[in-house]
Amino acid sequence: MPISLYNSLTRRTEPFAPLDPARVTMYLCGPTVYNYVHIGNARGPVVFDVLARLLRRHYPQVVYARNITDVEDKINAAAQAEGVPITTITERYARAYHEDMAGLGIAPPDVEPYATAHIGAIVAMNETLIAKGHAYAAEGHVLFDVASYPEYGALSGRDTEELIAGARVEIAPYKKNPTDFVLWKPSTPELAGWDSPWGRGRPGWHIECSAMCAAQLGETIDIHAGGNDLLFPHHENEIAQSTCAHGGKTFARWWMHNGMLTFDGRKMSKSLGNVLLVHELLKLHPPEALRLRLLSGHYRQPLDWSDGAIQQSVSTLDGWYRVLRDLADVAIDAAQLPVPSAVKAALCDDLNTPQALAELALLADAARQHGTPAAKADLLGGGALLGLLQQDPETWFKRVGGTTVNAAQVEALLDERRAARGARDFARADAIRDELTAMGVVIEDGAQGTRWSIAKA
Ligand SMILES: [Zn+2]
Repeated sequence: MPISLYNSLTRRTEPFAPLDPARVTMYLCGPTVYNYVHIGNARGPVVFDVLARLLRRHYPQVVYARNITDVEDKINAAAQAEGVPITTITERYARAYHEDMAGLGIAPPDVEPYATAHIGAIVAMNETLIAKGHAYAAEGHVLFDVASYPEYGALSGRDTEELIAGARVEIAPYKKNPTDFVLWKPSTPELAGWDSPWGRGRPGWHIECSAMCAAQLGETIDIHAGGNDLLFPHHENEIAQSTCAHGGKTFARWWMHNGMLTFDGRKMSKSLGNVLLVHELLKLHPPEALRLRLLSGHYRQPLDWSDGAIQQSVSTLDGWYRVLRDLADVAIDAAQLPVPSAVKAALCDDLNTPQALAELALLADAARQHGTPAAKADLLGGGALLGLLQQDPETWFKRVGGTTVNAAQVEALLDERRAARGARDFARADAIRDELTAMGVVIEDGAQGTRWSIAKA
């Protein structure tokens, strides 16, 4: 089944064919680690995690790189505000980022380059660009000379005159042209910096990605991904730097961009007070419901986030996990899950996750009706491709907010209640039921004994 992917560069959906089918390369712009990330920042990592899962089914080797930007002005500001070295900030928030991503069921990338580990490569790329006449040094800065690259603007469809007229670029005395952008800038003694031919300084953000991409994946990569807020200028600048440094070679063959999140129909902003941190959401909601919500819209479209939408995702997962719980005794080979063709076909069609989820719902219906090992395996196999339904159904039902309740404590109370009922001490049995209710636990007495789950908020 061929994979088709929309390419932001050609503005068409095209059959995906890697340069080297033995080694598919993909790069996603990662976080700048100076605070906790918000849920909008998690959409790209979740979406491209699904793409990586799909590619791994088609190709023997996929090298997926997601970087960490660990030197940047916002990091400097955070470090100065706390009076600590930048590594205190970057280590703290890189760790938090890893925890958040793991919480959302995102597999770690194959490589995770750090910008500060690539300073030599960044300096070398600057020197190459200067030598080839695409960059110049001025007042401790190195700037990319946009006029030297006539194709500039091809990705975003902007021309440079429009940019100047729209004042989208910073005017500075050391620039030859207002559209020229910074590759290297001087650091004052209290700021993080490295020695370079242009004095002590630090890299601009754009060149970090170009240098890390080349160092980790090669000069031409198959897929470069990111949020559509990065399309201009970040990705436009990456293309200019990499193409010019590498003698005109294509930098990324596919450019993929995910849409932004809105919150109850509004843009997320600090002033509106609707900034939702992944870190906080993971404590309030089952993480898998957050992942499901992020996959519920097509990745290129905007996606609205609301409490109602999360509750709907929780209900959907309740239904699917109920099927799996009812089929707990149906034995399957969990190590050899099938890849249901309808789910795969939806993902092969430009990562159509809403369609894939609709197919997964049909597989859940089939498993509910037929209860066969094949139907159960299909449901789990379809879920695996999306990174869903991989936990024990009992664990899914035993949680409060994002956290699983203390199952041992609940079981002990249920044992005590059973004993009380056996001794016809109904007052005690009712008291235990009340205690469980207060803990948010709902119990159902049935022919096969007592089952418990967590009450809906
Ligand atoms: Zn980047």
